[in-house]
Amino acid sequence: MNVHDEFDIKHLWHPYTSTHNPLPTYKVKSAKGAVITLADGRELIDGMSSWWCVIHGYSHPVLNEAMKRQIDSMSHIMFGGFTHEPAVELGRLLLDILPPSMEHIFYADSGSVATEVAMKMAVQAHDKPEKTNFATIRSGYHGDTWNAMSVCDPVTGMHGAFGPALPIRHFAPAPQCRFHDEWDPADFEPMRKLIRENASGLAAVILEPIVQGAGGMRFYHPQYLRELRKECDANDVLLIFDEIATGFGRTGKLFAWEHAEVEPDIMLVGKAITGGYMTFAAVAANKRTADMISRSQSGVMMHGPTFMGNPLACSVAIASTRLLLSQPWQRRVAEIEKIMRERLDPARSFSNVMEVRVLGAIGVVELTEDVDLASFQKRCVDAGVWIRPFGKNAYIYPPYLAISDKQLVTLCDTLLDLIKPE
Ligand SMILES: *Cc1c(COP(=O)(O)O)cnc(C)c1O
Repeated sequence: MNVHDEFDIKHLWHPYTSTHNPLPTYKVKSAKGAVITLADGRELIDGMSSWWCVIHGYSHPVLNEAMKRQIDSMSHIMFGGFTHEPAVELGRLLLDILPPSMEHIFYADSGSVATEVAMKMAVQAHDKPEKTNFATIRSGYHGDTWNAMSVCDPVTGMHGAFGPALPIRHFAPAPQCRFHDEWDPADFEPMRKLIRENASGLAAVILEPIVQGAGGMRFYHPQYLRELRKECDANDVLLIFDEIATGFGRTGKLFAWEHAEVEPDIMLVGKAITGGYMTFAAVAANKRTADMISRSQSGVMMHGPTFMGNPLACSVAIASTRLLLSQPWQRRVAEIEKIMRERLDPARSFSNVMEVRVLGAIGVVELTEDVDLASFQKRCVDAGVWIRPFGKNAYIYPPYLAISDKQLVTLCDTLLDLIKPE
């Protein structure tokens, strides 16, 4: 069977592609555990968790069963005027594991929508026409919808394509002090200044705690978040943590805020929440924020998507979260971190490598130049692995509860083979 599809090439858009001469796509027949099987029978070890969400591996019997059971009772029911056991049960489960101050949950359909909802919450909470803008740090990523784009990194994000159409936000430099470095108080000063100078116009600061994902794959110092919390409080600015990429164990903690022990006012989770089975996200808020919204002029949280609280998504999210918590996930993530540290380390001596960094189940080899995606991808597939770099970052983000040590070693060694200068 052909591994590229003619109809697909002619008619289907893929993420960030042109209809003229699109990047090649490979047809997948099935996926199981940490292995993806192509239409032509070739097998690939998965190093991406399908953009970071498939933590238990593909086609997991427990998750399959949860979906099937829910389909037989009801796949969907409107959330306006109705509720159901999966929504309630998931809410309980999330409040048990999210920061203790979180009390209210809004179910959204995707990560980007969750970002929109969180930003709307912050604006509604302040309920003042002048306090409606946002600050963030460079190298961030919060999704592809309009407001989410506006707080993505202006260079690696889509400000180039949409610049004049986007609302103008305040950007502090990306934190320079790395996760494992000694804290340098100077690192927070630009953000402190930015908040103080713009406080009267700021509804919230939004950022990804500890790990900046699609905006640059950077790991920064927990003290930055402690300083930020204090500064937000002192200036009546809400703090939003986007944990869509970091949640559910990926960084070695269940959620990344735990590295700093700083709680946000609003927190977003998505991606791994359903183990990669369905699009789904949740926005959690503390009581203070919810109270502010309820006391605002409109008095209600103004958002309500058609598929809000979808029972299938809630059911598989419950199953995925329970499955995660029932295993020694923290030990496994630590083992994966150790293996990636050892196996990616030799790349430090490559002339085309800027930096190698590993945190939890994320291993990044930052190159000096952008990767040529089409040729890199073909060589990956020929070598039997699936790794999809962006920009200068070649990284491994494995399905950490499915991958074996041997598969992980193959991923790391193959990555180094593929980037090694001639
Ligand atoms: C992926 C991602 C989003 C967007 O989620 P989608 O489900 O793709 O809309 C938002 N924030 C972060 C940190 C992400 O990694």
